[in-house]
Amino acid sequence: MIRTRFAPSPTGYMHIGNLRTALYEYLIAKANNGKFILRIEDTDQARLVDGSIDIIYKTLKMAGIKYDEGPDIGGEYGPYIQSQRKNDYLDYAKQLVEKGEAYYCFCDKDRLDRLKDGDSISKYDRHCVSLSKEEIEEKLKNNTPFVIRQKIKDGTTTFIDEVYGEITVENEEMEDQILIKSDGLPTYNFANVIDDHLMNITHVVRGSEYLSSTPKYNLLYDAFGWDIPTYIHLPPVMKNQTEKLSKRNGDASFQDLIDKGYLPEAIVNYIALLGWSPSTNQEIFTLDELIQNFNIKGLSKSPAIFDIVKLTWLNGEYIKKMDFDKFFEMAEPVLKSVITKHYDLKKVAQHIKTRIGTINEIVDMVDFIESLPEYSTDLYIHKKMKTDEAISLEVLKNILPIFESLENWDNDTIYNAMIDLVSKMEVKNGIVLWPVRTALSGKPSSPCGASEMAEIFGKEETLNRIKKGIEKLS
Ligand code: GLU
Repeated sequence: MIRTRFAPSPTGYMHIGNLRTALYEYLIAKANNGKFILRIEDTDQARLVDGSIDIIYKTLKMAGIKYDEGPDIGGEYGPYIQSQRKNDYLDYAKQLVEKGEAYYCFCDKDRLDRLKDGDSISKYDRHCVSLSKEEIEEKLKNNTPFVIRQKIKDGTTTFIDEVYGEITVENEEMEDQILIKSDGLPTYNFANVIDDHLMNITHVVRGSEYLSSTPKYNLLYDAFGWDIPTYIHLPPVMKNQTEKLSKRNGDASFQDLIDKGYLPEAIVNYIALLGWSPSTNQEIFTLDELIQNFNIKGLSKSPAIFDIVKLTWLNGEYIKKMDFDKFFEMAEPVLKSVITKHYDLKKVAQHIKTRIGTINEIVDMVDFIESLPEYSTDLYIHKKMKTDEAISLEVLKNILPIFESLENWDNDTIYNAMIDLVSKMEVKNGIVLWPVRTALSGKPSSPCGASEMAEIFGKEETLNRIKKGIEKLS
């Protein structure tokens, strides 16, 4: 059975790249009737940030990514938490010491710092590798602080990554990395190997920054005689050709995007496409459709560029498809924050639903409804519609008494009145519609046409705005 895991360190917010890793792990598991596991890697106590575990839960929940198992936490199962599994790791490290694959190191900080300062030596110099059994026992008895280091053997290590292909490294390039720190906790590098094995993880998906550590992990698997998992390393998510997407951008986290008005489903859909190409041209996928279609063969090794324009388009498609009542529930508070007058907000919402990329765009789109903005008469000049200021003035002067005389005030009646004027003036539709639209909105673009706007405003406000237009143009 395929088993994947998402293994975030609770060090702050949920980066888009992390969420993508979680999503791919989830999809690989679900596409194969496998299991997806959440494992919080919190052994580096110095890097822990309060509240970040909650962010991980909340993000996965909003994204619809459910983990399948974990330790019992009072009737429910929780995620695996590495710091709560402390003792196992030390036992495993001791097993490696027994096998001659790891060793105790008693070098203190001063010595290690001196090593770092020395010429070009950046690796640990194996000072403790040849301590005698007696020396080790003596130091342990005296409670001398120690770490346990992996003993890297000579030779080369080769492995296959599903995205990057075959990778070979010279073992001498690798340092005898620390497996157990002086506080007794394992390093990430050790704990992830032990846990991946104990949890029967078959596919490890993570960022490409771990490619260079993977040979060391493989040496550990070999030392224990365990199976090596399938590796899927993912290229970074970039802001542009050269810069990684970062927190400083303000849009690198799931929560930033939610705050900017993006829908969780659209974000998940977009993130799935950041580095994975489906075999068809389909771009809009529900989570279930992603499960049906996802295949690791579609993963790319070139860095994915985060394209906010594309995400906004995709989000707009989700809004278009959304059930109107659900949309109105989201849009109403935003509309009410801009429009205090008693207009039919449902009608406004109907017009904007098909035109926005995000809920937050509503504000700028409807601000003219509350009060007519100051605008330049240049707006009446529209090349394609063949309008200019003079013809606009004539149109507004003509339409004013027509509107005044209308008994019914609904979209059709208002529209027909304008089309009657079109015939009377023997002009194209735009010659009448554009100036009226402009006079009503005072903006170069608006979420609906002249008659729809007039219907929302009611007769009085419509006439006021037309008169204002006449005044401006005269
Ligand atoms: N804890 C690591 C991180 O947050 C996970 C790496 C892995 O998946 O092995 O980057």
